[in-house]
Amino acid sequence: MESKKQYSKRIRNLRRLILTTVAAACLIPTCICVILAIRYDRLNDRYEQSEANLAWYRDRYGSEKEILSSSEEVTGVDSSFPGSEPIDGMDVDYATIDVSGAQNPEDIEGTRYVYLTFDDGPSTYTDDILDILAEYDVKATFFVCGKPDAKYTDVYKRIVSDGHTLGMHSYSHKYSEIYSSMDSYKADLDKLRIFLYETTGVWSKYYRFPGGSSNKVSKVPITELVDYLDSSEITFFDWNVSAGDDRAGATKDTIYANIVNNVPRFKHCIVLMHDAADKRSTVDALPEIIEAIQAMDDTVIVPITDDTLPVQHINK
Ligand SMILES: [Zn+2]
Repeated sequence: MESKKQYSKRIRNLRRLILTTVAAACLIPTCICVILAIRYDRLNDRYEQSEANLAWYRDRYGSEKEILSSSEEVTGVDSSFPGSEPIDGMDVDYATIDVSGAQNPEDIEGTRYVYLTFDDGPSTYTDDILDILAEYDVKATFFVCGKPDAKYTDVYKRIVSDGHTLGMHSYSHKYSEIYSSMDSYKADLDKLRIFLYETTGVWSKYYRFPGGSSNKVSKVPITELVDYLDSSEITFFDWNVSAGDDRAGATKDTIYANIVNNVPRFKHCIVLMHDAADKRSTVDALPEIIEAIQAMDDTVIVPITDDTLPVQHINK
């Protein structure tokens, strides 16, 4: 026979158990509802973004079937890009174009903004460049190409997750193809934009023409290509300071001098550099370039954003 004391203890325990069970039965579904509501909200945002992107594809390609068949053409891409060797008619004639880069009148006396930009990546050196940028806590802009090789998937993602701006350059980087007609130009650029979206989730809005907007290679008038960029809500950026790392005989010292001697000329510098397997000197020069720029008065290194006024070699 259990005592009266033991009996009331059992009753107390039983009551506690019932109360706990009832509380849990109320709380757990409430928590699950809150979590599901938050997830629903996030997924809904992503869904709306995807819908907007799909509408954009449809606008250009028609049905999904056509989209799929056009992306199947993405084969045989040369992943060993030649970088951007100077080609005939590509040199920029600075005497005839405005590359002052002054942001706006009230900014003339203000801070100097330096935008480090890297073309042609990703490459075997992208991770090294990202490591250096991280070491100096500097954000840059990468105008990349389309390289579907799995070894680059994480590199594209790292550019984004490290806080840099992901810009577009060209899917194939083959001048003879992309500039041969309006259709091939559009196909190359759209392919890159979709590829980057599928790889990183970023719908890129920034672009650099292979060879710059002042290139003399394009068989299509650049103004027509620019109209297409405008209709696609893409802003293109040329440069007013060049590392010269695409020229024969470039060394760590010439790259350093080209940049560090020219940055002081402008209040708003868009610096052209390359991220390519044959451009180790650029990587070697980068730490000292960053140190020299950071030592300049009232100067900051920033990534390209919607607020950046572009340097453009041609007038739109
Ligand atoms: Zn290039």
